[in-house]
Amino acid sequence: MTTIAFIGLGNMGLPMAKNLIGAGHQVRGFDLSAESLEKLEAAGGTAASSAADAVSGAQVVVTMLPAGKHVRAVYDESVFPNAASGTLFIDCSTIDVDTARAVAADAAAKGFSMLDAPVSGGTGGAEAGTLTFMVGGDDAAFAKARPLLDVMGATVVHAGASGSGQAAKICNNMVLGISMIAVSEAFALADKLGLDRQKLFDISSKSSGQCWAMTSYCPVPGPVPTSPANRDYLPGFTAAMMLKDLDLAQQAADSAKATTPMGTKAAEFYAAFVEEGHGALDFSAVFKKLRGN
Ligand code: NAD
Repeated sequence: MTTIAFIGLGNMGLPMAKNLIGAGHQVRGFDLSAESLEKLEAAGGTAASSAADAVSGAQVVVTMLPAGKHVRAVYDESVFPNAASGTLFIDCSTIDVDTARAVAADAAAKGFSMLDAPVSGGTGGAEAGTLTFMVGGDDAAFAKARPLLDVMGATVVHAGASGSGQAAKICNNMVLGISMIAVSEAFALADKLGLDRQKLFDISSKSSGQCWAMTSYCPVPGPVPTSPANRDYLPGFTAAMMLKDLDLAQQAADSAKATTPMGTKAAEFYAAFVEEGHGALDFSAVFKKLRGN
C-alpha cells in the first residue's frame, strides 16, 4: 500500500483517485471544490485541508490540474516545501512542454524525481481504469510509478526523458485535430456531391482515407453508432479541450522552431468554432460548421 497525495479531483482526477483507492492505496486528496472532496471521502479517501496537508506524509504525489500555471503554482507553493525526501511526483495534467520540463528540473534540483504522465482516454477511460499514459522522465522514476499507472491505465508507454510525455500527447492530438477537420470536410463535400454518407464511410474506412477520426469517431451520425455525432455531439472530448491541446502544440512548435502549417490552421479553425459558442460540444461537431447547418 502506498500513501498518495492526489491534487486535482475534477472530471479526470476523481475517478483516477477512486481507482487507486480501489486497488488498496491510501489516497489523501485535495481540490478547491468541496464537492469533489466529499466525493473522495465517500469513495474511501481522505479529504485534506490543503494541498500542503495532502502532501505531508505522502510517498507519491499525483497532480491532475487544468493547465501549466496551476501545476507551477501547486508544486512551488505546496508540493516542494512539504514533500518528504524520496517522494515521487507524477503530473498527469496536459500542460505545455516547457513548463513540464522546468518544474521537473526544479524538482530534480531539490532532490526529487518527477514524471510528466499525461493521459488519453477521457473520463470513460479514467473511470474504467483504461487510460493510456504517455510518460516522460528517467527509468528509475518510471519503474517506481509503473504499478500505480497500471492501476489507472491499460497502456503505459515510457516516451523518453522529461517532457516527452507532454510532447507525445500534443503531437498525437495535433494529428487528431487536423484529421477530424479533414474527415469532416470530406463528408460535407460528399453531401454536396450527393454521395451517400454510409457509402463514403464503407469505401474510405477500407481505403487510404482510413484514420481514427473516420473509423472510430466518425463525425456524421450513422456509420459508427458509438460516436458523439449520434447523440447530437454531446462530448466525448470537447472542442474547447481540443483547442487547448492545439494551442499547446503551437506553443511547442514556436518554442522548438518547428513548421506546422496544418496544425496552425487547425488551431485557428477550432478557435473560431469555440468563439462562436460551441466550446462545450464534442470536437467532431466541426462537421456541422463545415456542412453549414
Ligand atoms: P477539471 O476542470 O474537471 O478538473 C481540474 C480540477 O483541478 C478541478 O476540480 C479544480 O478545482 C482543480 N484545481 C484547480 N486548481 C487547483 C489547485 N490550486 N489546487 C487543487 N485543485 C485545483 O479538468 P479535467 O477534465 O479533470 O482535466 C484535468 C487535466 O486532464 C487537464 O489538464 C486536461 O487537459 C487533461 N485531460 C482531460 C481529459 C478529459 O477528457 N476531461 C482527457 C485527457 C486529458
